[in-house]
Amino acid sequence: MKIITSISDMHKVSLALKGEGRTIGFVPTMGALHKGHVTLIDKAKRESNKVVLSIFVNPIQFAPGEDYHSYPRDKERDEIMASQSGVDVLFLPLADEMYPDGYETFVNVEGITELLCGKFRHGHFKGVATVVLKLFNIVMPDRAYFGEKDYQQMLVIKRMVNDLNLNIDIINMPTVREEDGLAMSSRNTYLDSRERTSAVSLYKALKISEDMVKNGERDTMKIINEMERIIRSETAAKIDYISICDPDTLKDIKTINGRALAALSVRIGNTRLIDNCMLGVK
Ligand code: AMP
Repeated sequence: MKIITSISDMHKVSLALKGEGRTIGFVPTMGALHKGHVTLIDKAKRESNKVVLSIFVNPIQFAPGEDYHSYPRDKERDEIMASQSGVDVLFLPLADEMYPDGYETFVNVEGITELLCGKFRHGHFKGVATVVLKLFNIVMPDRAYFGEKDYQQMLVIKRMVNDLNLNIDIINMPTVREEDGLAMSSRNTYLDSRERTSAVSLYKALKISEDMVKNGERDTMKIINEMERIIRSETAAKIDYISICDPDTLKDIKTINGRALAALSVRIGNTRLIDNCMLGVK
C-alpha cells in the first residue's frame, strides 16, 4: 500500500493510473476505521482496479465547540486496517495544504442541507461538500463510496455531483451495525459503558418505526411519538430531532404512502449520534 500525504503526489499517482487505463474507486473517511468503512473498501475493490482511501479530519465541517480536537485519531491502527483491507493508496492530506492561508472557496448545496442535521450543525454540510469536491479533484475517481448511515451527507454529495456535472458515480452502501443494532461509528468510542447501553435506543426506535409501518400504521405523528417514548426512557438521551421524511427531499411527511426515511439524531451524554432506516410502503 502506497501512503501519500502531498496533494501533488496524489494527483500524479491518479494521473498515472488513469493513463494506464485503470479505474479508481475512492473511499473518503475521517479515519478511526471500523467495519462500516471496510464494507465501502470491499465494494470499491470489487468494482475498480485501484482503491484510494483518504483519511482527513476536515476542520471546516466542525463548528466551534464541536469535537474537532477530540475526534478519535489512530494513524498506526488505521494504516494496518487499510493495508489489510486491500487499499492500494492511502491518502493522508494535511490541513495546512488543504486550506492554506488565504483559502476562501466553499461549496454550498442549498435546500436539503437546511433540514435534519443542518438545523443543528450550521455550516457542516458546506464543509463536507467543499472537502469532498476538493478530494474528488485531487483523486479523480471513477466511483466514490458513501455509507447510508450518513444518509443526508450521501444525498448532499449526490446533489453536488449532479448539479456540478461531475463525472463520478456515487455508490451508497447499507449501514453496518454492532450485534445489538447500534450503527458503527468512530464516535461510539466516546461512550462509557452506561451510555453505550443507552445508545441502542436509537436502533430500538427505528425498529419500532419499521414494525409499526409493517403493521399498517401510516400516521407519522403516531410513529414519532412511539420513537420518542423509547428514546426518552433513557435518562442520558436528549433528542435533537426525529423525522419521518421524503427520502429525496428530506421534507417531513404526515402520511406514509410510498418510500419514507426515518431519521434521528440523539445526544447520549456529550456524544451526538445519528441513525436512519428506510420505511417502505409498496
Ligand atoms: P466517517 O469516517 O465517519 O466520515 O465515514 C466515512 C464514510 O464511511 C462515510 O461515507 C460514512 O457514511 C461511512 N460509514 C460510517 N459509518 C458507517 C457504517 N456504520 N456503515 C456503513 N458506512 C459507514
